[in-house]
Amino acid sequence: TGLVVAMDGPSGSGKSSASRGVARALGLRYLDTGAMYRAITWWMLQQGVDLTDPGAVAAQALQPVLTMGTDPDAPAVAVDGTDVGGPIRTAEVTAAVSAVSAVPEVRRRLVAEQREIIGAGGIVVEGRDIGTVVAPDAPVKIFLTASADARAVRRTAELAGTTVEAQRAAMARRDTLDSTRKTDPLAKAADAVELDSTALNLEEVIAEILRVIKE
Ligand code: C5P
Repeated sequence: TGLVVAMDGPSGSGKSSASRGVARALGLRYLDTGAMYRAITWWMLQQGVDLTDPGAVAAQALQPVLTMGTDPDAPAVAVDGTDVGGPIRTAEVTAAVSAVSAVPEVRRRLVAEQREIIGAGGIVVEGRDIGTVVAPDAPVKIFLTASADARAVRRTAELAGTTVEAQRAAMARRDTLDSTRKTDPLAKAADAVELDSTALNLEEVIAEILRVIKE
């Protein structure tokens, strides 16, 4: 069976760029599990589901059909056959996603789909609970962190019309919600290698992860 690399960490730690870079370097597939939670959230907002009501979210959790592309050069996400790669990155979806991802029925569904996509392996999987829940037997687990300042500065550079202060506050709120929810919270697996990317550039982070994989 092929290699599975579990890549977890808080928002803005650089997981996506690092995961894609590692997948590209090793010829592996890439799965962005955050995009799956975002896609469900986008669909629920479209449908007018009351996201403050976990029962309402649970009742609709199985409705949207997700299709994930796993090419690290062109990761794709579609809902009911429509590409939603752009719409799932809006501030509205970002602010709403933690409420949806805290609902056990949503997680149960997506964890099952993630395991199906992982299949026999050969993939880098990025998220919050990959090393702890989705792929606890993954032979390589990375927990990527960075200082709150570095994360806010990086995220601000990626987005238009926002400030470092606003990003710092939005990320702190999301990380608190993600790490305090009852079901599968953001957590470092006991056997994960923690990597602080605060003082590293992307190439250095990728090189460090490739070094861990070769060990
Ligand atoms: O990685 P990204 O920031 O796109 O993830 C969006 C949200 O999806 C997270 O804030 C979290 O609420 C949820 N998520 C999760 N479990 C994962 C991946 C993402 O709960 N494995």
